[in-house]
Amino acid sequence: MANYHPSDELLMEFTAGQKQDALGIMVACHLESCLECRKRSQVFEQLGGEILGDSQETPLSEGLLGKLLSRLGESPAPAKETDVQGDARLPRPLRRFVPGYFDSLPWSGLSKNIKEFTLPLGDNRYVAKFYKIAAGKELPVHTHEGNEFTLVMSGQFSDDAGDYKQGDFILADSDIKHQPRAGMNEDCICFAVMDAPLKFTGFFGRMLNPFMR
Ligand SMILES: [Zn+2]
Repeated sequence: MANYHPSDELLMEFTAGQKQDALGIMVACHLESCLECRKRSQVFEQLGGEILGDSQETPLSEGLLGKLLSRLGESPAPAKETDVQGDARLPRPLRRFVPGYFDSLPWSGLSKNIKEFTLPLGDNRYVAKFYKIAAGKELPVHTHEGNEFTLVMSGQFSDDAGDYKQGDFILADSDIKHQPRAGMNEDCICFAVMDAPLKFTGFFGRMLNPFMR
């Protein structure tokens, strides 16, 4: 079971149907493999509007959440079935966006050891990609403009902050400087969702955009 999970805030937004975007798809993928978060999501669903209505003023206390969690059965319903097409080895929420399994995707090379595949999600707010890091290799040290969410799809990786395995959900913000390194035994494939780069529109935007990367 995963060690790293979405925050309660994000899980609540997702449960309330407020994350119909790339990040929502990532949360749905995590839920497929994480019983713990499925239970929490179920609690949030039961609490419904009450909590969400005034969550600004009254964050959910750990005591209340614990009580609600303990009342739940051990086997909440699995994530909703949305579609069945696509490769059955992929998490269900991704299947209709991804043309095949990892070994048959049209990867493009950032370098010999790092490949990427941009997911055609049509999301204006986020950019969504798969990254493949060759076994034992590492990404260059980098920081993030804005947030980057990562879900480990296959294999594992490590950075200064910890070790991550399949199903782990990680948030790196602009304060974090990290250098992910894939595990020695197999390539690591991650699903990453980043805030989309700022886009300018209009006349000056057209002039500036070629320089904004
Ligand atoms: Zn989880």
